Amino acid sequence: MSERSEGPQTGKIVVVSGPSGSGKTTVCDRLRSDPHITLSISATTRNKRPGEQDGVQYHFVGRDEFLHRVRDGRFAEYAEYNGNLYGTPRQPLQKALEEGRTVLVEIDVQGAAQLRKLYPEGMFIFLDVPNRETAATRLERRNTEAPENRYRRLETAERERGTASTMHFDHQVINDDLDETVAKIRHLIAGGETAG
Ligand code: ADP
Ligand code: 5GP
Repeated sequence: MSERSEGPQTGKIVVVSGPSGSGKTTVCDRLRSDPHITLSISATTRNKRPGEQDGVQYHFVGRDEFLHRVRDGRFAEYAEYNGNLYGTPRQPLQKALEEGRTVLVEIDVQGAAQLRKLYPEGMFIFLDVPNRETAATRLERRNTEAPENRYRRLETAERERGTASTMHFDHQVINDDLDETVAKIRHLIAGGETAG
């Protein structure tokens, strides 16, 4: 992984991270409709969920292709999460920042720690659920993973909270009411500082 500093940029990187089920995808999906926000589309080796489209939620690629891109330095960061690889394409991110755009990046905590080194001036937001039962209930209701995989995600969530406590997030937002969460994050992106 490269830790060289990136080129000149006038945009703002906003990283939304947090455990599985905390609502990252839902929140970022709402925010991506804002005309001044560009959502970074990650590449992943995981299987498509029903309703997901290549190039919209993710670029879905095979493991060999993903590793090839890693070797070519095409990711700003990447990480393995529950047996699948996920990475942030470097070039579109860099281009959007150079164009002065606000780029929203939704990634796991390992990825957030890597991006912190590349973009120390970025805004890093840790999204979490009001309590653990809520995460379990929401993942169950989302119904996109088999119970075993869901259980593993909840275990990973505990590790992610531990890792998150050792790195510096600028803000923590508890995703209780969705509208309020989206409003808080919009406010933070716009330069407000009240969400702690
Ligand atoms: P993540 O991307 O962090 O894994 P998702 O965005 O997929 O989480 O959210 C997990 C589930 O919880 C989804 O089914 C989503 O619709 C639901 N959800 C997200 N935010 C809320 C909320 N504030 N209240 C109730 N359900 C929510
Ligand atoms: P999911 O399979 O639920 O879509 O994503 C699993 C985890 O991978 C989530 O925590 C999600 O935020 C994270 N993720 C998505 N894209 C990336 C990425 O490009 N890099 C990293 N490090 N994590 C990602």
